[in-house]
Amino acid sequence: MEVKVLGCSGGIGGPGLRTTSLLVDDDILIDAGTGVGDLTLDELARIDHVFLTHSHLDHIAALPLLVDAVADRREAPITVYSSQATLKVLGNHIFNWDVWPDFSAISRGGRALMAYRPIAVGEKLSFGARTIAAVPAEHTVPAVGYHLDSGFGSLVFTGDTTQDEALWPVVNAIDNLRYLVIEAAFTDSEEDRALVSQHLCPGLLAGELERLERDAEVYVSHMKAGQGDLIMREIEARVGRRVVRLVQGQVFEF
Ligand SMILES: [Zn+2]
Ligand SMILES: [Zn+2]
Repeated sequence: MEVKVLGCSGGIGGPGLRTTSLLVDDDILIDAGTGVGDLTLDELARIDHVFLTHSHLDHIAALPLLVDAVADRREAPITVYSSQATLKVLGNHIFNWDVWPDFSAISRGGRALMAYRPIAVGEKLSFGARTIAAVPAEHTVPAVGYHLDSGFGSLVFTGDTTQDEALWPVVNAIDNLRYLVIEAAFTDSEEDRALVSQHLCPGLLAGELERLERDAEVYVSHMKAGQGDLIMREIEARVGRRVVRLVQGQVFEF
């Protein structure tokens, strides 16, 4: 499995600051933030599956434009996966004919352009030898993370999350865990904001990572634009294990 980081910033601010999206091989997206906009039309047309962690705009911004861009190039619908609650938000507030067309109700050649597929925490879907399972996340809206397993190794992406007791038994049970991508949206001086908006800051991240019992490489994403250097310095001071800054363009193979 190859996972390429199309965007991992908490906000926009130039070419190096795209919001969250990971491209898995050439056919699966995990979240659809502004990083998707850097893919060519041919690359966009190969995406069959989009897994969303939650409904916040920085994670879904490019989805409506993606479905529209490839509508006349595809034979099969793009399937959008997330919790039932998140899919309901998309239908009610984005693909509602007011903000954007309801592509799940538009057919070409007898097939809808987009399909919704709910996924529950603990549920695992297979794509050839690859599996993707939803894992617990804690945020201000219903949210999940995803466990990607190639059969040889695993990557867990938490998405937006805060302190979350339910996640760690799941992560610690993954025998072939190689990579954990977690978040730190705010600096420690903004811990109050992190708690209210259900994100992490370095101090809170340190507490979470004490529960990680696996010898995995830990990456941190979703840092507020312009705050990355300070957040990384605070992480180095607070977290008792090596944590690497996730960068746009980075590729994981496992
Ligand atoms: Zn969010
Ligand atoms: Zn976010």
